[in-house]
Amino acid sequence: MAVNATHSTQSDARELPSPDSSDTTGQLAAVLQQYWGYPSFRPLQLEAMQAVMQGQDSLVIFPTGGGKSLCFQAPAVCLPGLSVVVSPLISLMKDQVDALQACGISAAVLNSSISAREEQEVLNRIRSGDLKLLYLAPERLLTERMHELLANLKLSMFAIDEAHCVSEWGHDFRPEYRGLSILKKKYPGVAVHAYTATAPEIVRQDIIRQLGLVNPKALIGSMNRANLIYQVRQRESGLGQILEVLERHRHESGIVYCLSKKNVDATAAALNELGLKALPYHAGLSAEERKQNQNAFLKEEVNIIVATVAFGMGIDKSNVRFVIHATMPKSLEAYQQESGRAGRDGLEAECWLFHSSADLMSWKRLLEQSESPDGRESAIKALNDMANFCHSSQCRHVALAAHFDERLPIDNCGACDVCLNEVPQVENPLVLGQKIVSCVYRVDQRFGADYVSQVLVGSNDKRVLANRHDQVSTFGLLASENRRDIRNWISQLICQDFLTPVGEYNVLNITDKGHQLLRGQLTPLLTKPANTTSRKLSGTAKEVSWEGVDRDLFEKLRALRGEEANGRSVPAYVVFSDSSLRDMARRRPSTLDSFRLISGVGSQKLTDYGPAFLASINEHCQSQQLSQDNVPPAVQANSLKSPNNPPAKATAQAIAAFPFFDQGLSVPETATKIGRAESTTWGYLQEYIRHHRVTDPSRWVDPATAAQIQAAIQKVGPTPLKPIFFELEEKISYNQIRIVVDCLANQSANV
Ligand code: ADP
Ligand code: ZN
Repeated sequence: MAVNATHSTQSDARELPSPDSSDTTGQLAAVLQQYWGYPSFRPLQLEAMQAVMQGQDSLVIFPTGGGKSLCFQAPAVCLPGLSVVVSPLISLMKDQVDALQACGISAAVLNSSISAREEQEVLNRIRSGDLKLLYLAPERLLTERMHELLANLKLSMFAIDEAHCVSEWGHDFRPEYRGLSILKKKYPGVAVHAYTATAPEIVRQDIIRQLGLVNPKALIGSMNRANLIYQVRQRESGLGQILEVLERHRHESGIVYCLSKKNVDATAAALNELGLKALPYHAGLSAEERKQNQNAFLKEEVNIIVATVAFGMGIDKSNVRFVIHATMPKSLEAYQQESGRAGRDGLEAECWLFHSSADLMSWKRLLEQSESPDGRESAIKALNDMANFCHSSQCRHVALAAHFDERLPIDNCGACDVCLNEVPQVENPLVLGQKIVSCVYRVDQRFGADYVSQVLVGSNDKRVLANRHDQVSTFGLLASENRRDIRNWISQLICQDFLTPVGEYNVLNITDKGHQLLRGQLTPLLTKPANTTSRKLSGTAKEVSWEGVDRDLFEKLRALRGEEANGRSVPAYVVFSDSSLRDMARRRPSTLDSFRLISGVGSQKLTDYGPAFLASINEHCQSQQLSQDNVPPAVQANSLKSPNNPPAKATAQAIAAFPFFDQGLSVPETATKIGRAESTTWGYLQEYIRHHRVTDPSRWVDPATAAQIQAAIQKVGPTPLKPIFFELEEKISYNQIRIVVDCLANQSANV
């Protein structure tokens, strides 16, 4: 069955049409603004909402943080009747209902977590028609009692959240979801909409089949998470590397994933000893402890959670700013899921992965104990894919997308260690690899990594001398290197399957690939030793999204958010997202009217939180004598006053060039700095001009030329460019023409 899907490109947020139009798009836009305070749709959101409005079944696949929930929530507000949302986890339901209520939307949950009295209240609200959204677990929805209730009501839709749970092919099959196949039969005429972040074709088709979706509209977003900055490193100092990352994220929330309960406890204890407040989470803790620790994290009483992979499912916390993998995960699927918990709010977030060949061996041991022979083969393949990813020199975003069958048209994402050139390769990896592998050969493939490194540095260790390995040709071949780095390279060679550790003592053997390396037929990837994480990250995405933000004020507002959240017993991000707080600390509104312009402030939040946040902002600005009611260029275009002219969102690659344009470097100079072709860099400049709404072209085009171009534009119009080019007798480049055209457009947009 071919799914006729609409795919998104990495395109800009869709501008809002004028909110007062009477069509459904206008209605949705108005609801988005009034309840959520959002001025634009995310890619494909509008299409997904339209399917709901039209009652056409749909299958929506967006990555985590892509904004799936709004796809059914906003239409649910517009449509008459009750929308029923199926969700697998009590914690997820509660958070979504909290978030809806905070926006002033009538929503409720029916599950085992509420008292009989609360349940009665919810039932009354359902019968009275007051409720817009009802969250249920599948078991509850499928009871006869529930059917009796719903059969007599006007239902606007069924929304199936985490729809991959219906498929045995997915990673989180829940048999209860299977029963949902009956919905289409029991409630003819009510559309069913499925939402998930899990994309494989086989799962997609299974969802459609299992739920019996009829001619569903399939909307498949790009799975690329452009706001995630991937950093992959060989593990060296373990805790030291983790500490360096934590240092970069003081006062920010994040997760540290460890392999075992033991590792979790040890890491959490070590962090606490160092004065960093961290709580553990793993299956060895009691359910009560787990809940407490999770809540403390959600309420931001503690910023760091150290966990096994047991943690995360059902965590909707939007402002996780970093995820650290202290060890290599078992598959790219697991890695994508776990690292994907960072940055749901769309702001930049870092995903650090520290790996070593020891991880590969631990996983293999575990797999041998746990998997059936059939399962083992695919598990080993998944593990090898993961290890290859760690050692690849391909852009992380591109490699991850490719694993999930998506081709990203990116040549430099500007947001991963490879593209940022954070981990340079050694100059001559073939020769270095050959030296190491031939030393393994010279010692007859009878020794482990530590011993081989001793021979390579030319150590006078007793064992080396007793074995007469000071006589072999590779003795002292890497005398200028240190042993730690050599062991590191050996580890890289193991991960890339040039060497393999065998038996109890991990004796190094040479694989077929290793022999090809010796013959010079294959070249390994070997990274330069470096105190890796201490290198300052360029982190351009970060600089951009913090631009103009008063950090002290941000911290004050963050504390206030915590208090407000505690007072109402909701997670902090339900009050405001990080991006709303940054917007506040950037614009620094002085009145409720200007507070209303902050992204994420709808009517209800304006009433509930406006006064307290405003008071804090005003007090801070007065004491620090800071300007207020600022309209930063990028935000200006998002304001409702110019709904037809949103700011162009720049690509991550272009953003990498922005600091150089800011410094006033020319296009050729910037091209050299970022290592890109001049023609590409002109494209980035165009993005810069559009994004920052630059009105003055004189930094790139001399005034006389600009005047000539302007005169030509007046004569033949601003588009297409060709007539302008000919009007100028083909003497002025398209690049320069484009810059002037865009600056002029910005001038008129700013009027
Ligand atoms: P998903 O369910 O796809 O993981 P969510 O629906 O939880 O994503 O959305 C992630 C975050 O993005 C939430 O904080 C949500 O409020 C926010 N969001 C969703 N749509 C928009 C939008 N159009 N503009 C701004 N923020 C949005
Ligand atoms: Zn990249």
